Amino acid sequence: MDFTYQYTEEQEEFRKEVRSWLQENIPDDKRAPVDRNELSDEMYAWWREMHQTLAEKGWLYPTYPKEYGGGGLSGEHETILQEEFRIARVVNGFTNSLVFPTLLVWADDSQKELFLKPLLSAEKVAFQNFSEPNAGSDLASLQARAIRDGDDWLITGQKIWISGQRKPDLLFGPMVTDTDAPRHRNLGYFMVPFPSEGLDQERMNLLSGDDQSVFFFDNVRVPGDHLIGGEQQGWQVTQTTLEIEHGGRGTAMPQDEALEHLLGYVENTESAGEALGADPLIQQTAVEAYIDSHVFSLLSLRNYGMYMARQEMSYQGSQTSMFGKEYRIENADRSRDIMGMYAMCGIDEPRAPYAGAPEVYQRSSLVGAHPAGTIEIQKVIIARRIGISRTRERAAATPSTAGVSGV
Ligand SMILES: Cc1cc2nc3c(=O)[nH]c(=O)nc-3n(C[C@H](O)[C@H](O)[C@H](O)COP(=O)(O)OP(=O)(O)OC[C@H]3O[C@@H](n4cnc5c(N)ncnc54)[C@H](O)[C@@H]3O)c2cc1C
Repeated sequence: MDFTYQYTEEQEEFRKEVRSWLQENIPDDKRAPVDRNELSDEMYAWWREMHQTLAEKGWLYPTYPKEYGGGGLSGEHETILQEEFRIARVVNGFTNSLVFPTLLVWADDSQKELFLKPLLSAEKVAFQNFSEPNAGSDLASLQARAIRDGDDWLITGQKIWISGQRKPDLLFGPMVTDTDAPRHRNLGYFMVPFPSEGLDQERMNLLSGDDQSVFFFDNVRVPGDHLIGGEQQGWQVTQTTLEIEHGGRGTAMPQDEALEHLLGYVENTESAGEALGADPLIQQTAVEAYIDSHVFSLLSLRNYGMYMARQEMSYQGSQTSMFGKEYRIENADRSRDIMGMYAMCGIDEPRAPYAGAPEVYQRSSLVGAHPAGTIEIQKVIIARRIGISRTRERAAATPSTAGVSGV
């Protein structure tokens, strides 16, 4: 079966327009660095502006509604944009895009104006504010507390591992609104402006760099209209974010640059006067990497197709997420088997293949096993969704299944 998607003439014209615009407007010295930690302050500022230009064209967040700053375009347009962005090494928007589907499903009209518009138009940046020191896999055990004060809320607590470059304008996530209510009925979901009095950010230094932060809340005042959904509905709102985060939207254009590097290395490297690929063990390892990567691509594309067609989903998101996390770690092992110590040469080492990208992959594949639910947690979700667990659960509402406009 041929899985290659055949684009229409109109879509191919759109691709040409995107490609030539990117060629003209993205200078070489602004293209995404091999290691995202190398994004300088100057580049960050340049991309903040460029994201606004791309958003105005409808290209940054193409499938979200035009009235709120999205592109109003189709999934096929999104796929083309992702393909072309990758070729041009466009730096992705700095907002954690999980906030968009969540606001589409749960925010009222005035909240969409207030939050969705500035985020989709890239004027503002939002980070996902969920995990706490004692609440990661078991998110419902979180403790950050929101107490009513007139029309406002006062928030106190700590959030950890919060991804995002530099500083956010908004943090989005659940807080305990009622300590007497049972688990899952004791939370509200808040949009918290940053900076705010009493709110501090400290960056974390992880194996993958310093993209994560801890946020400390000390009686941070948040206006009443920053609560998304009801004051005890936060768990349901959170589930919409998690449904997408666990893979429920799939990916229009699954990318695997690490695989391309691995295959390129096998093809173009010689060892003791022989092509590396002549060694049957190397061949076998490279083919295993290729197969796993393609299985992941097909699972991601299936999810994307189901999501865009507004089909009911169940285990598919977590299945894809679990497989993706596992195979990336295996492919990092395989690239060490094939490249040897060259896979460990960083971006500053002149002999590093592919400008050090394989070394970045060694670190990011390990770290990547944790965000968006660990491998074990994806297995728990799959078991619940296919009916072999003590508890059963259905997929949460997403813009796809909730029937709202824009996906
Ligand atoms: C790079 C990175 C980026 C992140 N970005 C964000 C972000 O932007 N926003 C945010 O809110 N959070 C973020 N996180 C946090 C992430 O969601 C948590 O790390 C994750 O949910 C795991 O929680 P934990 O670290 O507290 O580990 P724990 O929950 O303490 O888990 C420890 C280990 O126990 C296992 N385990 C736990 N429960 C079970 C179970 N029931 N069955 C089997 N095994 C289990 C886990 O799989 C894991 O191996 C990020 C984390 C990382 C590393």
